[in-house]
Amino acid sequence: MNYQWYPGHMTKAKRQMQEDIKLIDLIIEITDARVPMSSRNPDIDDIGRNKSRLILLNKSDLADPKANESWIQYFKDQGYHAVGIDARNKSGIKKVQNTILEACKEKIERDRKKGIKNRPVRAMVVGIPNVGKSTFINTYAGKAATKTGNKPGVTKGKQWVRLNKSVELLDTPGILWPKFEDQTVGERLAMIGSIKDDILNIEELSLVMIDYLREHYAGAIEHRYEVSVEGRHVEVLERIARKRGCIKQNQEIDYAKAAALVMDEFRSGRLGRVTLEYPDGCGEEDA
Ligand code: GDP
Repeated sequence: MNYQWYPGHMTKAKRQMQEDIKLIDLIIEITDARVPMSSRNPDIDDIGRNKSRLILLNKSDLADPKANESWIQYFKDQGYHAVGIDARNKSGIKKVQNTILEACKEKIERDRKKGIKNRPVRAMVVGIPNVGKSTFINTYAGKAATKTGNKPGVTKGKQWVRLNKSVELLDTPGILWPKFEDQTVGERLAMIGSIKDDILNIEELSLVMIDYLREHYAGAIEHRYEVSVEGRHVEVLERIARKRGCIKQNQEIDYAKAAALVMDEFRSGRLGRVTLEYPDGCGEEDA
């Protein structure tokens, strides 16, 4: 979390990923369902060409259910397999496992024709920091998982963990670097708390958030804070500050504290299930 990337890190991460990807059949790419585009790094399409692809929209419990559906359809239309999950919760396992087998159908069929039976599909989890890679591996392969031991060709220290008799997962995820060069991407990653708050001004972020919620999730602010959302965004923040007692000793409004409160409540889902970008480009005008 709150990773700092330098060109050297990126080169190293990319080289490691290219090595690991040689060992696998399927790339399980984890994204954040609240920002499915901004939490991707399209370089993976190049690094992972010729591999089966599954995109998991994780933290779908925090995202707008309708938007989850649109994004899943969007990725399917692009030729990926896609499923929405909450990686903390085992209830999605069956669906993910079925989708893995579906995604690797051709490989399984090829094996069968060659007379190779019961060779598990090998997969690797990748994604930018904080999307839930470790949580996913723990939930899906955690306690019950049998470590299958080092195999020839596997980078030392890496292990395969068994999801079930048909699927094995590399125990360490591949870390992709975010596309921060794009300012909109940076802002959205800051919104979900994946970039240090001191890089982007938290008051600015909270004002953008207030505008976004007013426009796309009418009622969310009123419902949570019981304040009017009329007027300028900064007036709304002031009302929230008063309501929640964000007042300095000298009786001035503590905007920074109120802003941190709003962002914290958004990030933990207390402002409702909110998605910050849509496949049809809705949300772009707010960036
Ligand atoms: P990684 O950096 O990609 O390995 O991300 P982590 O697995 O460390 O997860 C980052 C944070 O997101 C942790 O606080 C997790 O508890 C939380 N998290 C992961 N998956 C989910 C999810 O599906 N829903 C919610 N609400 N939180 C999640």
